[in-house]
Amino acid sequence: MIKQWTRALVILSTLLLFTINVPALHMPGNNKNILYINSNNLGYPYTDQIVSGLSSVLDTTQGVNYYMEFMDTQRLMDSLTFVHFYENITRKYSSINFDAIIATEKSAVDFFVNYKDSLLFKDKAFIFSGIPDIDEYDFTGIDACGIIEGRELEQLFYSMHRLFPKRKNVHIFMTSSKTDSIYRNNISDFNEEFDLANYNIITDLSNDAIIQFLKTLGEEDMAFVINSNYDHTGTFKPYNNVFNHIKEPLNIPVFTDIKTRVKGFTGGKKKPGKTYGKMMAQMAIKRINNEQVKPQFIHPHVKLQYNYQELKRFNVNFSLLPRDAVIVNKPKSFFSKFKELFLVNILFILSTAAIIIILIFNNINLRKYRVNLESARDKAMQSESVKTSFIANVSHEIRTPLNAIIGFSDILMIENEDENLDEYIKHINKSSHILVRLVNDVLDLSLIDANEIKLNYNLVHLPTFMDEIIQRNLIQLDQKDKHKIRLKLKPPKEEPEELYTDQLRLNQVIQNLISNAIKYSVKGTITLSYNFVEKEEVQKLTKASNFNLAHNTYCLISVRDYGIGIPQELKNFVFERFRRLDQVYLGHHGGVGLGLNISKSIINIMGGEIWFTSTQGKGSTFSFIVPQLHTEQFTESDNDA
Ligand code: ADP
Repeated sequence: MIKQWTRALVILSTLLLFTINVPALHMPGNNKNILYINSNNLGYPYTDQIVSGLSSVLDTTQGVNYYMEFMDTQRLMDSLTFVHFYENITRKYSSINFDAIIATEKSAVDFFVNYKDSLLFKDKAFIFSGIPDIDEYDFTGIDACGIIEGRELEQLFYSMHRLFPKRKNVHIFMTSSKTDSIYRNNISDFNEEFDLANYNIITDLSNDAIIQFLKTLGEEDMAFVINSNYDHTGTFKPYNNVFNHIKEPLNIPVFTDIKTRVKGFTGGKKKPGKTYGKMMAQMAIKRINNEQVKPQFIHPHVKLQYNYQELKRFNVNFSLLPRDAVIVNKPKSFFSKFKELFLVNILFILSTAAIIIILIFNNINLRKYRVNLESARDKAMQSESVKTSFIANVSHEIRTPLNAIIGFSDILMIENEDENLDEYIKHINKSSHILVRLVNDVLDLSLIDANEIKLNYNLVHLPTFMDEIIQRNLIQLDQKDKHKIRLKLKPPKEEPEELYTDQLRLNQVIQNLISNAIKYSVKGTITLSYNFVEKEEVQKLTKASNFNLAHNTYCLISVRDYGIGIPQELKNFVFERFRRLDQVYLGHHGGVGLGLNISKSIINIMGGEIWFTSTQGKGSTFSFIVPQLHTEQFTESDNDA
């Protein structure tokens, strides 16, 4: 009785876990298109931050394609820039109908407004950031929403004077650009507000010249530097900002407006580019799903930030900082050190647990204890079943917290604002996914060995099913693979389109073959194909293998790649458990060598066969067949296979 209960529980938790772990299948086709236009170019730190925020959301949103264009107006702006840019993108995107346009910074917004009635932009949802004043624009007839980034400096200047009351002379370095003129107007009001201070505005100096200037200043001076990206010839260089030029500590406090400039600056406004990028992407998704964005124009509160090391150096009284000040460059507190250690420990414990399961599974050879006596054999059989349920239960216990780690790290990847933690979070997320796969594989192995794999048959609509697999893999392709590897579905020439089979298991095997094809390819097209074939055709195809084919019609599914291929002498080991060929002939690709062994067992249990052809250096084709059963043909024994 207890045994039956344990089995029922194991099966229930297994089914539940499979449901949890199979990624949501979504409807193919009908993808929405978003065009993102940025006034600047990649490599400009603030642009990089916005783009990384945008991509982090759009990369993880199913059913959205996005395209990015950079105007680089800081370097290229002339009277024809808009015309050329417009011609260029209309030609490039002539076959795409965009659902939303996102623009960052003044020139990109101006560009959209200028061409708002063009074929490309008319009636499109428009999302923007980086403009300081909404009143400058006439958005009538435009479905616009966005983030207004104020250029107000009062709060910052108030804080500068509070922290350094003796430094009455404020030297302000800026460019003669339109954007900076807004700062200039703002600062001109300060003479009245902070009446004892002197403001000295200096425009268009090169970075070297600014540093030289700063070095001449003394006890009564401090500085505020914006947009100082000019080299000694006066050419704008986005990669080249003044703070990269500071080689030794300056005598005076220097304030600025951009987040990433930690070195050499004392404080400034915190421009959360990544957060703005994420916010715009979320607004765009809402708009293309016809949801309202409320409020339509957001004025985020901008915090001030300070460099801990510099404040210490100038002996600043920390209690004078604004209440919500962000302090960067702080020595790590015991807690934050502990926090990273804690995360690493969780991973370590989980990896150890997974390894222990594998070892238990691999090493405990229960058969050693089976003696001829019947009672002993009974005991051994019991312990085999105990082992299976033990592995199933432990797998469940590991998988539940692992799923929590994956879920929370997914959220953290979007929500986290501390770039120093981004890498850790990515590692945790990736490692947890690998562990879940490992635990799933170990559980499958134990079920296979205990003859406990249960198949759940249902009618599967193959065109939809296969297309979903392709779409899912396209979304999950790593950024680095995206440009080199293509994924394609080759549908059959003829009907029928439906297969009576276990959808989750079929998905598991195809997914495994595609993952391998991606893993062992550097470039080229990976093709998933399926077809219905008669028994005789399969025999012809696989004559050397002598498969025992019990059914008349089979569904033949293949995954073809142009990857590294498999050397002749290693071909016999491919389906062996824990065999990893690439350890022998290539670098390490990740994986433990269980996938194909499990796939083969599952296919055999389903009444099918799996095989491959491969040429080293040219690529591989993994193929398998599963019987085409008809509902009425489907018997109890098939289900219990
Ligand atoms: P792994 O987790 O190592 O990928 P698998 O059981 O899925 O384990 O595959 C076993 C071995 O077969 C791999 O280590 C790899 O060497 C080889 N292999 C599998 N698929 C391919 C492929 N498409 N191209 C080249 N080699 C492959």
